[in-house]
Amino acid sequence: MRFGLNNQPWPLSWLRLRPASSTRCFSLVHSLPLQSSCGIAFDIDGVILRGRTPIGNSPSALRRLYDDSGNLKLPFLFLTNGGGIPECKRASELSELLGVEILPSQVVLGHSPFRNLIKRFENELIVVTGKGEPAEVMSAYGFKKVLSLEEYASYFDDIDPVAQFKRWTKTTKHLNLSRNSSELAPQIDVLSDRVKAVFIASDPVDWGRDIQVLCDILTSGGLPGKESEHQPHLYFAADDLEYQAAFSCERLGMGAFRIALESVFNRIHLKPLEYTSFGKPNPFVFQNAGAILRNLQLSRQSNDLSGDKDAIHAFRTLYMIGDNPFVDVKGARQAGHPWFSILTRTGVFKERGNHAEFPADLVVDTVEEAVDFILKRESS
Ligand SMILES: [Mg+2]
Repeated sequence: MRFGLNNQPWPLSWLRLRPASSTRCFSLVHSLPLQSSCGIAFDIDGVILRGRTPIGNSPSALRRLYDDSGNLKLPFLFLTNGGGIPECKRASELSELLGVEILPSQVVLGHSPFRNLIKRFENELIVVTGKGEPAEVMSAYGFKKVLSLEEYASYFDDIDPVAQFKRWTKTTKHLNLSRNSSELAPQIDVLSDRVKAVFIASDPVDWGRDIQVLCDILTSGGLPGKESEHQPHLYFAADDLEYQAAFSCERLGMGAFRIALESVFNRIHLKPLEYTSFGKPNPFVFQNAGAILRNLQLSRQSNDLSGDKDAIHAFRTLYMIGDNPFVDVKGARQAGHPWFSILTRTGVFKERGNHAEFPADLVVDTVEEAVDFILKRESS
């Protein structure tokens, strides 16, 4: 079951903007009008990067979005269903890999909408799972009582009956695995406090353990071994069935994990699993991306002393550049005006023509071709 979303846009206070570094200078190929009323959302996997390797001449394409002083010519952000690390760290990684300064406010990850739930769960016990640093992500959002699923499971003897056969797992009983003790959630009594919500922040690493422990939490009202009719809230950062990573063909994504968990849960529990999925193609994600691009645009104009501060117009076009018709193109189409979808052939989609079910407004080979099209279209 998928719930409708009624979340508010992310608070503007989150968008701490600063000018792009003036130490980076790039050549201006096209001269855009300052009040250009367009913005760009780039997918990352299969468009900008494959694993950690830039593809489609993405560094060159991104450099063309800055003027000679290193300032943004038009607002852009990265809109990905990936995650597992805080936005500020991902921004640093992207800056290093792509050779341009990316601000944390230009990075929207699959789990970024979780920050909207802070009022609801700030002081409640929550469990989070996924690759990377999911507990650090949630702590950075302000959640006070966060445990990774790995940490949580370590409090329950034999909760994973095959753990002893997992040679890659180090036994860390009752140990906060990566955070300092000062960052530990305050006053958590894991064996008596009920888990109020579970978050899948990024692709789970140990599907078997995670499905077992999640079923324990979700069927017991938040306290394994107990009984309760009430299912704790369950949130997924995304619902991608497949995505393009470093391997030659697509890999199973969070949507595949959701199907596995839901299938098992619905076989062992009378009531069907209830959950909320964020991430593209959810229209909410595109609405928020538009709001963030608007603030980037406002910041860009306020940094320009010669700009007309009153010339604030609605975006004429918002470009979504992605490789997955079912996620990027479907999302842009559902979001409607002013979104314009551009599909690249560097990831999930590889066909010669357009996609039959979710045709994009434009199909190109690479992200560089997409940026070239946008710059020509917007400067004409
Ligand atoms: Mg992709």
